[in-house]
Amino acid sequence: MTYVDNKKCIGCGICLPYCPLEAISLRDGKAWVDPDLCADCWVCLRKKVCPKEALQAKELTDFYQVFRHVLCDPVETFADTGVTGRGTEECKTNDVTGRYRRGEVGLAVDMGRPGLGCTLRDVEKVAMALAAAGAELAGPEETPLAQLMTDLTTGKLMEEVLQEPNLTFLSIIIEAKCREERLRDVLKALQKVEQEVDTVFSLGLIIRPLPDGTAPVLKVLDELGIAQPVRGKVNVGLGRPIAEA
Ligand code: SF4
Ligand code: SF4
Repeated sequence: MTYVDNKKCIGCGICLPYCPLEAISLRDGKAWVDPDLCADCWVCLRKKVCPKEALQAKELTDFYQVFRHVLCDPVETFADTGVTGRGTEECKTNDVTGRYRRGEVGLAVDMGRPGLGCTLRDVEKVAMALAAAGAELAGPEETPLAQLMTDLTTGKLMEEVLQEPNLTFLSIIIEAKCREERLRDVLKALQKVEQEVDTVFSLGLIIRPLPDGTAPVLKVLDELGIAQPVRGKVNVGLGRPIAEA
């Protein structure tokens, strides 16, 4: 847990704007880190902003605190995926991995950004809504979040992590995919569950366009009143070709 050494802190306030979760405030002339908000992302420590080295991190010994730190600190590598931070390569290497085949739509629900954070209870609500609508959640070798799930077919998280106090995450990505014909149901489920969570999320859709560059599946966005994406990343397929499904 990140904390302030009161003997060193001079209350200059320099560190306050560096915390993405606004967990640092001044109390009685000294900086104070709210343990309910701090996600141990260590942004404040990595930036070395404190002139008195008053910001400190206690050693993380609890499994869930270590897990959260690795997901929230973009310079840490998650051992099972080999990728830094909370996500995976998703579609960026799809020409090599073939995670998303023709007829499938990849889903990357990015919860808690920008600067709001998210709790695992809200993450579970969204994951369960995706699964119930017919999406297939990514497994533990693909995404860190899956390690906290008891059942990938439902998106249920382990009860002990839901009970864990003070476990705010900077952001978590829920990764999944569905058949194109299920996309309408999945999007409707997300429209419903967004009213039920106390944070924000963005949705990335991963689509393999037709050879002419079009993606007819995106018409469903218009039907549901969702704005067509105005930006995206394009994998032009320069990696080793994959076998078609
Ligand atoms: S570790 Fe991250 S969340 Fe905690 S006080 Fe520092 S910047 Fe804020
Ligand atoms: S930058 Fe350091 S000295 Fe200044 S308020 Fe923050 S912890 Fe205290």
